[in-house]
Amino acid sequence: MKTTLRTDITVKDICDGFVYNQLEGKGLFGLSGKLTIQPEYQRNYIYADGKRDVAVIDSMLKDYPLGLIYFVKITNEKFEVLDGQQRITSFGRFVTNKFAVKVDGMEQYFESLAPELQAKILNTELTIYECEGEEPEIKSWFKTINIAGVPLTNQELNNAIYSGPFVTLGKEEFSNSQNANIQKWSAYVSGSANRQEFLECAIDWVSKGKIEDYMALHRKDDNIKELKTYFTSVIDWVSTVFADIESEMKGLEWGRLYETYKKQPYSPQKVSQQVKELYADPYIKSRKGVFEYILGGSTDTKLLEVRVFDEATKKSVYGKQKTEAEKKSISNCPLCAVGNNTNKTKIWSLAEMDADHVSAWSKGGATDIKNCEMLCKTHNRAKGNK
Ligand SMILES: [Zn+2]
Repeated sequence: MKTTLRTDITVKDICDGFVYNQLEGKGLFGLSGKLTIQPEYQRNYIYADGKRDVAVIDSMLKDYPLGLIYFVKITNEKFEVLDGQQRITSFGRFVTNKFAVKVDGMEQYFESLAPELQAKILNTELTIYECEGEEPEIKSWFKTINIAGVPLTNQELNNAIYSGPFVTLGKEEFSNSQNANIQKWSAYVSGSANRQEFLECAIDWVSKGKIEDYMALHRKDDNIKELKTYFTSVIDWVSTVFADIESEMKGLEWGRLYETYKKQPYSPQKVSQQVKELYADPYIKSRKGVFEYILGGSTDTKLLEVRVFDEATKKSVYGKQKTEAEKKSISNCPLCAVGNNTNKTKIWSLAEMDADHVSAWSKGGATDIKNCEMLCKTHNRAKGNK
């Protein structure tokens, strides 16, 4: 890879012909059309938060360095930004009056700035490395330099590595925050479209977790039909089975649940009632587990993390059981006491026992001292598995 240091290019040069696409949330071109600011392997613009974009302008006003910027030289007349697109998009948007910064306590757009401050920004000279080389070499280097700064998410990296028509189409559908479906999807998918987490989720579901294999296989595809259809099927299925949207639904493994339970019939009305009851149960610690619990036929109580007895309760029940057992010369585990082996009279230590619900939680038993009994670990496990 050949690199050339350039210090003659100014903010004004870059902003000549600057285009910002509001819809896609990216800076597109600059440098009189010679510079592509966001090639497809780059992440979306994420500095538009009133902090990081403002910090770029503040730096210029205070003569702080903006840091190194890297261009890839495609031909003598064509460049792509390899590193620095967030900074470039920030000053490009500022110079085109897309946001304001505070100067002496006053919110100022570029057009309202004093002429000497405007000039100061436009005449800022950038430190730019122009690089020439083969694509794989440049991409592997891109991976290396991006370790600094805001780290790339996994999917942003994958988009860079497997860039091509499939990624471009995938991003158009799943990474576009203007897509009206994003709001509906965000009830079930966590993260942000901008950081590629919806795209990641969609590929994760259709590939059953093999994201990179899927991206490599479909890299040159000129459509994303399968990806889109599968994602829509999962979302439609969840939103049909569970009529009410709960915040704990976000980010669950809906792809896996869809594969496991899609053939089962459910009555949305009954399911809705079940969700309400489980949500109202104070003994359930994991509301996230409620959905899979219902889908699986309300049997796997482990998913709900039903509240366990606290140490004070266990100690108190243990003490009571032990005193009574010693009086009768039987084991302090009620199940050992009625058995026929050597444990019939064994007094277990507290550490050798576990608390059990006399009347099971699933049958309405409460997690309070009246419903607690201590069993030896073997008997507790045997009972728990029933
Ligand atoms: Zn026992």
